[in-house]
Amino acid sequence: MKPLIIANWKCNPETLKEAQELFNGIKKDIENKNVVICPPTIFLSSLICEGIKFGAQNCFSENKGAYTGEISPQMIKSIGCEYVIIGHSERRIIFNESNVDVSNKVIKAQQSGLIPIVCIGESKDQNTFEIIEEQIKDIDKDVLIAYEPLWAIGTGENASIEKVKEVRDFLKERKVLYGGSVNSQNAKDYLEITDGLLIGGASLNNEEFLKIIKTAY
Ligand code: PEP
Repeated sequence: MKPLIIANWKCNPETLKEAQELFNGIKKDIENKNVVICPPTIFLSSLICEGIKFGAQNCFSENKGAYTGEISPQMIKSIGCEYVIIGHSERRIIFNESNVDVSNKVIKAQQSGLIPIVCIGESKDQNTFEIIEEQIKDIDKDVLIAYEPLWAIGTGENASIEKVKEVRDFLKERKVLYGGSVNSQNAKDYLEITDGLLIGGASLNNEEFLKIIKTAY
């Protein structure tokens, strides 16, 4: 099985036109590959097409109802997405998402037929294994886990291979991706010891992103 490469565009780019340009620049090279593009939800319907896998960056824990502004797993599934990122550290920190929120979202996403990717990871002053134990304790074993230490996200300071191996071994039979300042120079090392990568910043630069894809394929 080829590794799974997830592109998390976060809240970028600013316009639909720019999103289309970014996507069109990689479309041919990622067709029928194990690559998932997660643009802002508002752009998904305009980008979704045959032969490419898409995901959302978040979802709500209910499928419908009086929840102004929320987007449900069923809605995401119905427009043609296969995946959803849940519990990214930016959501946990900026939007106060708790492990309970994450677990509720995962359950609903799975019921809706989406494949959840749950992000876990510690800050510099936390114990890695205590934190991730808490973060995964109510998460189904089949859910993909992205290990993303907080201090490695968008900083250029990536986790050591030894550390990622320790986390992968701790997570036992789970499928584990690594995320945190992945680039075309370090991608190969992480791909050798994980099931794939979650890529933020480098996925907004087509040249860099395609170099990473070539490393994996
Ligand atoms: C991320 O957004 O999950 C991420 C890992 O970002 P970056 O690759 O920029 O560190």
